[in-house]
Amino acid sequence: MTASRGVVFAGVALAWCCQAFAGPSFQAADMITLVRMRAAYLPLPDVSKTTTSDLGSLWRLPVRAPLTPDAIRTPGDPRPYRYGVHQGTDFYGVDAGEPVYPVGTGFVIRADVDYTRMTPLYRRAILTRCQAVGATPGEYGVAADPRHGDILDKLRGRQVWLYHGDTEAGLPVLSVYAHLSGVEPLVLGEYVGPDRQIGAVGNTGTSEEGTDGGAHLHMEVYVGERYWSLRTPEELGHVPRAARRRELREATLRALGWSPAGE
Ligand SMILES: [Zn+2]
Repeated sequence: MTASRGVVFAGVALAWCCQAFAGPSFQAADMITLVRMRAAYLPLPDVSKTTTSDLGSLWRLPVRAPLTPDAIRTPGDPRPYRYGVHQGTDFYGVDAGEPVYPVGTGFVIRADVDYTRMTPLYRRAILTRCQAVGATPGEYGVAADPRHGDILDKLRGRQVWLYHGDTEAGLPVLSVYAHLSGVEPLVLGEYVGPDRQIGAVGNTGTSEEGTDGGAHLHMEVYVGERYWSLRTPEELGHVPRAARRRELREATLRALGWSPAGE
């Protein structure tokens, strides 16, 4: 193994193993404190039993276009375009501009109503950093970059974040919608139900930003600092066989209320 591959390998292993938090790292804590007070008056889903492997049965798909398991990628699926672990579910097979909806009733804690694109030069600079680290600074278990901060957050592009309540252990349950082409005129603290459009599918933050290609919705769910994934702990750090990958895709869709046509 060459030295540089060794660094990459160690970085990836660190990303998978380290329990230290890098987490959903935009400044969410203050907003969560504020909307918790509003949650005393406005009903939220019961997320008291929600865990990083079991969302419970209250969740809905964030896009309304017909989907098949082949059209999604689940947390941990290999991604060709960046280093480290992919923490979200990607919905492909949806057109740019397609409406995006909350996976459950919640409060808006972030809405990138204004958004400025990265320059290609800056994008290359932060991807070079990822290559050097062998992971994406800002992802779970990987500290923010000293110079560029939370690089994962930049690569998510234009985003909306929602708060859905707390687990019985007091951990906030959040959902993240990324690469949006547009965001509805949401107000921080706004209460949104599953039928309220929050944004539109796009490719912001991806290498295809500015072109017509690559549109998809990237969605993450967090329970506290950990991201939701149906993989077993033993599966983390490995690429499962194709049959298991397909099983995970179908299970992920079903956890969001999907069922195959005719079922
Ligand atoms: Zn993604």
